[in-house]
Amino acid sequence: MSESSESFHDVIIVGSGPAGYTAALYLGRSEYKPFVLAGALTPGGQLVNTTTVENFPGFPEGILGPDLMDKMREQAEKFGATIEYDDVVSADLTGPLKTITTDSGETYTSKAVILTTGSEYRKLGVPGEAEFAGHGVSYCATCDGFFFKDKKIVVVGGGDSAFEEANFLSRYGSSVTLLVRRDEFRASQILVDRVKNNPKVTILTNTAVDEIKGDSANGVTGLSLHNTKDGSTSEIEASGVFIAIGYTPRTDFIEGQVKLDSDGYIVTEGASTQTSLAGVFAAGDVSDRTYRQAISAAGMGCRAAIDAQNYLTSQE
Ligand code: NAP
Repeated sequence: MSESSESFHDVIIVGSGPAGYTAALYLGRSEYKPFVLAGALTPGGQLVNTTTVENFPGFPEGILGPDLMDKMREQAEKFGATIEYDDVVSADLTGPLKTITTDSGETYTSKAVILTTGSEYRKLGVPGEAEFAGHGVSYCATCDGFFFKDKKIVVVGGGDSAFEEANFLSRYGSSVTLLVRRDEFRASQILVDRVKNNPKVTILTNTAVDEIKGDSANGVTGLSLHNTKDGSTSEIEASGVFIAIGYTPRTDFIEGQVKLDSDGYIVTEGASTQTSLAGVFAAGDVSDRTYRQAISAAGMGCRAAIDAQNYLTSQE
């Protein structure tokens, strides 16, 4: 740290997924001691809510998402990163000194900031979704699958998340129906094959959700659907609806300061992690609309740390 106050730092890293912890590891090994605002609710990011991660190099047998994030945190701490479990509520990143205020009322100042806040679950936006959230509507199979033992489950989405969740939920549900709005899938072939070979999962293509139905006594009881090709409507019974239709970048606290694209992703310059503001860098899902993998986020975290280090050196 360059100044004596505990709230002044060379670099503040906001977020604690693979990008945040990798940036912290790299900066920890440099002369600039990183300070990580890890978030209060789910430090470790999205991987904390997954089961086995099979595609992070170095773990040929796979590794549980929460275990992988524990290891990343340990490694960052081993090299001097300080971690605070608090949520950022506002920030002023425009000047040479950046200030960040957290939910617990603390204000931190730094010369550079790395934004690795990831993304949050995209909502379907249909009637009943908000009303039955936590009463049959879920965005996390590993968190809530257990509550639907021997019940009819519906999963919505056509990407890796939806296919992975459909497969995982077949352990619990009496049946799993996967609703895909087109007749093509974004999911990788290996996950599609697993689902197609799973006798408990049925895939309904060209199927969109109009409404999630239920009542206060039972929570979710079913869904109203329509066929996206011929417009025909139908109903399906279900006690659990798992929505896995992607994510939206988490950028509320920097809107109007850092340049965002039309979908809210932080814009970075060329191959670097430099945002539109000097001394502010971005890495991981919050600025990556294309790859969005744990390993690519970790790689970006490394690049952000090096970019921040070069920036700090140039300011001395
Ligand atoms: P995604 O790849 O963005 O896919 C979202 C899916 O939801 C698409 O099929 C999309 O349909 C559908 N969708 C979006 N809005 C919808 C709506 N309003 N109604 C119905 N369907 C809707 O999101 P993801 O599956 O969460 O994956 C995110 C990233 O994480 C990806 O890069 C993925 O590879 C990665 N991931 C990897 C793994 C793994 O490797 N094991 C596991 C999970 C996630 P359209 O196709 O029609 O747009």
